Amino acid sequence: MKIIVLKFGGTSVGTVDRIKNVANIITSYIKKKYRVIVVSSAMSGVTNDLIRKSEKISNDFDVQELDVLLSTGEQIACSLLAGRLRHLGYNSRSWLAWQIPIITSGDYNSSRIININKNKIHKYLKSNGIPIITGFQGINNKSRVTTLGRGGSDTSAIMVAKFFKANKCIIYTDVAGVMTTDPRVFNKAKKIKVISYEEMLEMSSLGSKVMQSSSVQEARLNRIDVDVKSSFQNKSGTLITKRRNIINNKIITGVSSTKNDAKITLIGVKDKPGIAASIFKPLSDNNINVDMVVQNISSNGKETDLTFTIKSGDVNKTRKLIKLNKKINFKIMKVDKDVSKVSIIGVGMITTPGVTYRMFQSLSEKKINIMVISTSEIKISVLISKKHLVKAVAALHKEFSLNK
Ligand code: ASP
Ligand code: MG
Repeated sequence: MKIIVLKFGGTSVGTVDRIKNVANIITSYIKKKYRVIVVSSAMSGVTNDLIRKSEKISNDFDVQELDVLLSTGEQIACSLLAGRLRHLGYNSRSWLAWQIPIITSGDYNSSRIININKNKIHKYLKSNGIPIITGFQGINNKSRVTTLGRGGSDTSAIMVAKFFKANKCIIYTDVAGVMTTDPRVFNKAKKIKVISYEEMLEMSSLGSKVMQSSSVQEARLNRIDVDVKSSFQNKSGTLITKRRNIINNKIITGVSSTKNDAKITLIGVKDKPGIAASIFKPLSDNNINVDMVVQNISSNGKETDLTFTIKSGDVNKTRKLIKLNKKINFKIMKVDKDVSKVSIIGVGMITTPGVTYRMFQSLSEKKINIMVISTSEIKISVLISKKHLVKAVAALHKEFSLNK
C-alpha cells in the first residue's frame, strides 16, 4: 500500500469554501492511487475562541475539562471534511482520537503520543475509505481526552505517518513553505526548497513558526520526509529531510531573527567560583530562560562584567530576582530592551571555513555593532541593536546568496 498522510492546518480548513478546496486536494491523491490518511486541525480561530470561553467560565479552568473542550474544534473540521468527500461520492468518515485509539501519556494540555492502534484504520483503508483523523488530540490510560499543546496537529500527522509507515507526510498550510527569512522582516525572502531536520529545528526555535517544533523532532527521530506547502496554490513547497538527501551548494540555509529579546549586563561582579551559578539558579527556578551569555575575563582578577539575554517579558521579574539575590555582589545593572538576535543557520558551515568571518565582516560593513555572539555546530547568532535588524537581515541574506 502506498500510504500518504495529508495534514491540513487551521486556515486551510478555515471556511466552508476552504474545506471544499481541501477535499479536492485529497481526491487528487486518490486519483494518483495513494491510500490517503488525512489529519486535520480545527478551523482557524476556533481553538482560541474556546480558550477565551473557558477563561470566562473560570480563571482556573480545570485542565482535564480544557482538553475535552479544546479537542472539539478538530471534530467539527473533520466531520465537515468527511461530509464533503462523501458528497463528492467518496467513501470517507471522521475518526476521533479515542475511536482509533491514539494513546497519549504525560500532562493534560501537553500530552505526547505513545501509540496508535492501526487495526481499524488499516481495515478502513483497505476498504478504500479515506479516514479523516482529528489532529491535536488523544486519549490517556485513564480514558480521558488529552491534547498535545498548541499547534499539536502537526505532531499528530507525523506520528500517524510513523505508525502507518507512510511514504510521505505533507503539511498543508497558508504559506508557500519554509522561507529563508521572515518575509515580514525582509520582503526578498525566498522559499527554501529542501532543508534538513536539524536546520528546521534551529529555524523554528529561533522564531520561524511553520511547524510545531516537537513535530519536527519526531520527524527527525523517525526519518520521515515532510513536505510543507500551501493549500492555497498548487506549487511545490519545502522538503524537510535528512542531511544525506540534500545536495546543496548553499552554505547557509536561512537567516532568522527575534524581536523580543532583552540584554542584561551586571558590571563589577565579584569574581569567584560559582558566581555564574548563583546568578542563574534563581532565574531558572523561576522559569526564566537565559539564552546568550558572555562573561569578560576580569582584568584585575577580582571583578568581572557579565552579560546575558532573556525574553523581554521577563525583564521585570529578572531585575527583582537579581536585586534580591544576597549571594551576588555587583556595582551596576544595565538593561537594554531594544536588542535583536540575528542568526544564520546552515549545515554547510560545518565543512566551510570562514563563515563566522563573513558574517561579522558583512555586518561591520553596514556599521552594525555586535554585542554578544553565540554559536552551535550549524548556527551563529549575534545580538545587535533592534534598529539595525532589517539592515542586518538584508546584508546576511545577500552575503550568503539567499536572494537567488
Ligand atoms: N487546533 C490546535 C491549535 O490551534 C491544534 C493545531 O492547530 O495544530 O493549536
Ligand atoms: Mg499549525
